[in-house]
Amino acid sequence: MRYFSALIIVLIITLYGQDKQGLETMTKKVTKSESEWATCLTSDEYRVLREKGTEMAFTGKYYKHKDDGKYVCAACDFELFSSNTKYDSGTGWPSFYAAIDKDRILEKRDNSLGMVRTEILCARCESHLGHLFPDGPRPSGLRYCINSISLDFKKAE
Ligand SMILES: [Zn+2]
Repeated sequence: MRYFSALIIVLIITLYGQDKQGLETMTKKVTKSESEWATCLTSDEYRVLREKGTEMAFTGKYYKHKDDGKYVCAACDFELFSSNTKYDSGTGWPSFYAAIDKDRILEKRDNSLGMVRTEILCARCESHLGHLFPDGPRPSGLRYCINSISLDFKKAE
């Protein structure tokens, strides 16, 4: 019986350890200096992802994109959005009513251009993705308005 209890304790510690490790991997930050980012991104990607630029509406590669799969951060490959929550907002930017997981997105108040908006960033590398607006469809009522250039697409198998 004592042996059995010891075994259970070892098992719990092992499982807990793995779980903790999984969580750390998911939220492990990707940090690079701006000069490192400049060498691994194209100049257009750098302008949006690191300098918070906005691509022209109706010009990006994903606003009309309808394939099934996952959209990942173009800077660090972190899975951010699923095609399941993508919808046509008519704005000319890829729009989603939810992220894969709320924790994958950072929200930041943005007072630029004389407006109060919510900027959204990749939680792993803090690259700029776009903005969050409260005019999305049900069930969330949210619109994650994202620059195509901030995303890469991984087609579902
Ligand atoms: Zn990222």
